[in-house]
Amino acid sequence: MTRPPPLRSDCFALPGGARLTPVDAALGRLREVLGPVAGTESVALFDAAGRTVARDVAALRDNPPAANSAVDGYAVRAADTEAAGVLPLAEGRAAAGAPHGARVPAGHALRILTGAVMPAGTDAVIMDEEVVLEGARIRFEGRVRAGANVRPAAEDMAAGQVILPAGTVIGPQHLAVLAAAGHGQVEVRKRLRVAVLSTGDEVVAPGSPLRPGQIHDANRPMLLALAARWGHEVLDLGHVPDDPERIRARLDDAAARADVILSSGGASAGDADHVSALMRKAGEVAFWRIAMKPGRPLALGFWRDRLFLGLPGNPVAAFVTALVFARPALARLAGGHWPEPLAVEVPAAFHKEKRPGRREFLRGRLRPDGRVEAFRSEGSGLVSGLGWANGLIELGDDAAAIEPGTPVRFLPYAGFGL
Ligand code: AMP
Ligand code: MG
Repeated sequence: MTRPPPLRSDCFALPGGARLTPVDAALGRLREVLGPVAGTESVALFDAAGRTVARDVAALRDNPPAANSAVDGYAVRAADTEAAGVLPLAEGRAAAGAPHGARVPAGHALRILTGAVMPAGTDAVIMDEEVVLEGARIRFEGRVRAGANVRPAAEDMAAGQVILPAGTVIGPQHLAVLAAAGHGQVEVRKRLRVAVLSTGDEVVAPGSPLRPGQIHDANRPMLLALAARWGHEVLDLGHVPDDPERIRARLDDAAARADVILSSGGASAGDADHVSALMRKAGEVAFWRIAMKPGRPLALGFWRDRLFLGLPGNPVAAFVTALVFARPALARLAGGHWPEPLAVEVPAAFHKEKRPGRREFLRGRLRPDGRVEAFRSEGSGLVSGLGWANGLIELGDDAAAIEPGTPVRFLPYAGFGL
C-alpha cells in the first residue's frame, strides 16, 4: 500500500467571496496541493511503456558509443585528400559490428559501411556516390573535410546527461531513448490505483433490462476506461444505490484497496445527494462550484486518507470534468508532470451566444477543412454527442458571441490521451 496523500484536510477549501470558482483557479489549487502518492519500483525496459519515470534518468553511456560512419564509402584521413584525388585501398574493411582491428596506414583509404566504428588513422568518409573504384584504389573529386560523413561519439547523448526528467510518462519514443542510453531497467512509479464507482437509485448495469425510472450506468465503463488509458490500475467498485450505509461501506472498501476514489453522481449539495451528505458528515470534503459548463458540482476531499473526487452524475459533465480535472489530478498523484491539454486555435463553423463569466466546453468535431463544428445541442444529457465529437471546444471565461470564422480553442481527444 502506498502512502496517503501528504495533504491537509482543509487543503481544498477555496477562498470565499466569489460565488463560483473560475476553472483556472480550481486547477491552480489542485496543482498546488497534489503531489505523488505512488511508490516506486524497477521494471524491465520492455515493460516500461506507459509508466511514469520516478527520478531523473541519466545516460549510462555515450551515444553513439564511438565515432562511426554515417554512410557506405571509404574511410580516409582528410589531410591525405588535399593533394591526391586518388588513394590506394588498405586491406580489409570496417562494417557495423565488425570493426577494423588495425590502423589504416597514412595515405590509404579503407572500405567502410554505415554504422562501422571509424578505424584508427581515419577521420572522414567519402561516400560511394562520390567515388570511382579503380581496382585497388579510389578516385574522387576535391578535398574532404575532417569529420565529413562521420557521426562523432556522444553527439546524441553523453554519459551522465539527464535524458528523461522525473515525471515523464514513458512512450514508445522514450523506450528508444532509454535503450540507446544503455538502460535495460528503469525506475518508475507504481501504478496509481484508481477505484471507480457510480451512485444513484436509478442507475443499473449496462445491458440489463430497464424498469420505469431507471437508467443505464454510462459513467462507470467510461471512467474506468479513461483511468486505464491514462496508465492507472483500475478497480471497478460497481454501483451503489443512494443509501448512506451502503455508500459508506463501499467507500471504506475502496479506501482499503485504492489510492484514489473516483465517483460519479450525488456530488452536488442537494438533499437527495447522498454522497455529498455522507462526505460532509464523515469525510473531509470541499464542494467546488466551478464556473464552467457542463459540470459545475465537483466534490474533492478525503475518505480515510484517500483522495476522493466526486464527479457530476450527468455523463457529459462526468466526461468533461474527468478530462479537465481528474486527468491532471491523477497524473500528479501518479508522480507525473501536470499535463496541459493540447490545444489548437481554429475557426468556428458555428454560431453561439455565450454568457461571459464562465468557461464552456462544447463537444466539437474538427473537420478536414480545418474548421470545427459544435454538436447540434448543448444539452448535457446528450451522451451521443461525446461519440460524435473528436474533441472539446473550449470557450474562454470571457468569450461572448461566436460567429462562423471566429477563432476558438479546440482540444482534440488525442491530446487527452484518448
Ligand atoms: P446526480 O449528479 O446524481 O444528481 O445525477 C445527475 C443526472 O445524471 C441524473 O439525471 C442521473 O440520473 C444521471 N446519472 C447519474 N449517474 C449516472 C450514470 N452512472 N450513468 C448515466 N447517468 C447517470
Ligand atoms: Mg444521483
